[in-house]
Amino acid sequence: MKDAQLRAKIPVFQRGETSMMRTRFILVAAALMLAPEARTQAPPKAVPPAPARAAKPGPQPANVPGHPKLVVMIVVDQMRADYVDKFRGQWTGGLKRLVEQGAWFREAAYPYAATETCVGHATISTGALPATHGIVANAWWDREAQKMMACTTDPKAKNAGYAGTAAKGGDSAWRLRVPTFTDELRFQSGAATRVVTFSLKARAAIMLGGHKADAATWADGGGWVTSNAFGTLPFIDDFVKAHPIKDDYGKTWTLSLSSSAYLYDDKATGAVAPEGWDLSFPHPLRGKGAGSEPDTEFYGQWATSPFADTYLTKLTENAIDQLGLGKSGGIDYLGVSYSSPDYVGHAFGPRSWEIQDTYVRLDKDLEELFKHLDAKVGAGNYVVALSADHGVVPVPEDMQKTGADAGVLHMPEVQQKVEDALKAFAYTAPAVAQIASTDLYFSAGTYDKLKTDPAAMKAVLDAIRSVPGVADVYRAEELVDRPATKSPIRSAEAASFFAGRSGDLLIVPKPYWLSSSAPADKKRDYGTGHGTPYYYDQRVPIIFLGWGIQRGEYFGEVTPADIAPTLASLCGITLATRDGRVLSEALLKKAIPEKSTAVQ
Ligand SMILES: [Zn+2]
Repeated sequence: MKDAQLRAKIPVFQRGETSMMRTRFILVAAALMLAPEARTQAPPKAVPPAPARAAKPGPQPANVPGHPKLVVMIVVDQMRADYVDKFRGQWTGGLKRLVEQGAWFREAAYPYAATETCVGHATISTGALPATHGIVANAWWDREAQKMMACTTDPKAKNAGYAGTAAKGGDSAWRLRVPTFTDELRFQSGAATRVVTFSLKARAAIMLGGHKADAATWADGGGWVTSNAFGTLPFIDDFVKAHPIKDDYGKTWTLSLSSSAYLYDDKATGAVAPEGWDLSFPHPLRGKGAGSEPDTEFYGQWATSPFADTYLTKLTENAIDQLGLGKSGGIDYLGVSYSSPDYVGHAFGPRSWEIQDTYVRLDKDLEELFKHLDAKVGAGNYVVALSADHGVVPVPEDMQKTGADAGVLHMPEVQQKVEDALKAFAYTAPAVAQIASTDLYFSAGTYDKLKTDPAAMKAVLDAIRSVPGVADVYRAEELVDRPATKSPIRSAEAASFFAGRSGDLLIVPKPYWLSSSAPADKKRDYGTGHGTPYYYDQRVPIIFLGWGIQRGEYFGEVTPADIAPTLASLCGITLATRDGRVLSEALLKKAIPEKSTAVQ
């Protein structure tokens, strides 16, 4: 399958990447498939910005106020806030250090409905909500192009692979409607600021880095790629040549702790393991297990294992060394988004040994990363912020064991009911152009007609509400301009509604109902997902550590949109547009001298 087709298919149907897990693995795997001999692209062209800037510290105004030398933004994809409470007793490294020495916001949650990866990263990086920054999903229906569009797809950009990796398509942050914290930092500081990001996912690396990152690097084509929208760093080429992903072939993911240390069952209820794996440990990275060479399944397994987190950590440490991050005289920025916890969570669910072990190992990776930063940048010279892009819902079959109302909402059933409802009225079939995640888009002209046809509109809304698992449905016009409302669900839907990009109708699943793009008679090929306005999807940790931070536990209700304003405050810059606020309660207060010498 062509990459363009894959891209069009993957994020398409389902909010929260709960679209078919098989497709996901095919994407990850096909994306990661090595095809060095089929290289169609010239190796990435090295451009000088980062190293050149490193050598030329910018001018400094007189009486420079203190600032961190480096901002480190860590996103853990799909990290639920309660993982900290459940698992912290087993942490001894970096996660423990964050919780015990940092400012831990225990009640942070996204205030919107579109709890997906691209949306969360855009919110973290801009300090704005999707209604402002315009990133409403991983992919949405492009009404003009009449096709699904991934949040980073840029027809003017061209991707390039490191170390001979084949790269396809083009990605950038051009659909992001506001500058990121990093864009503003580079522009306003006037000094040497380098912006470097890493992730397995393009949407994570790109949204963290903003419009003009010096380097944004993600996994694709069996290795690592970037886009000509960003700079290219020659040392990444050297690193990935020396350490290809396939070096992890043949390794086995085993339990880090004794089996009695794990909560829940060794086989998670309702889990769907990646191809080639059983439902319980150990998990060998051998693909289908037939050959001795990495295959498609191997890359899917690798991305769904802690080995990928460790790889990202090493890649990051190498960048710190090679660029001398934190030594430019300005404020550098390093963004890392760990994707594997998301893939593990989709497969095995939040109540699994796999998730618990993922965090035991991430704790060790972060310990190493922080030690590296201490040695190279200096403890206290950098500030870290850790958060997640969204949480996750328990696997429905697992939740059903509690007696709760839980299940799977099949979107093709919704689509069919809408078509059936409109048969009694004079509408051209098919009336529905696409259901993307939980956004329903009508074919051109249909929704305008419906708005003037109350009987048909009522029939459509009633039909949608009759589908098992549907809690409610909102019309676009109920969500425009973020109306004042006491309904938390409507408020959340409105906070991630962006006219022109969001659907005509926004479907709200019931709590603990997983929305699926698969028909009811097809076996689900993933365990669970996210993408709803419920607390299990919205609630994530926020922890700051280091320069300018007042350690402690904070219980106020905050959101990840508060991260960028807080970092901006620490760095002394202004964000033009923000929906979040400065988390001033977690900032060190400097005593004002009794005899102020300030000019009156
Ligand atoms: Zn996900």
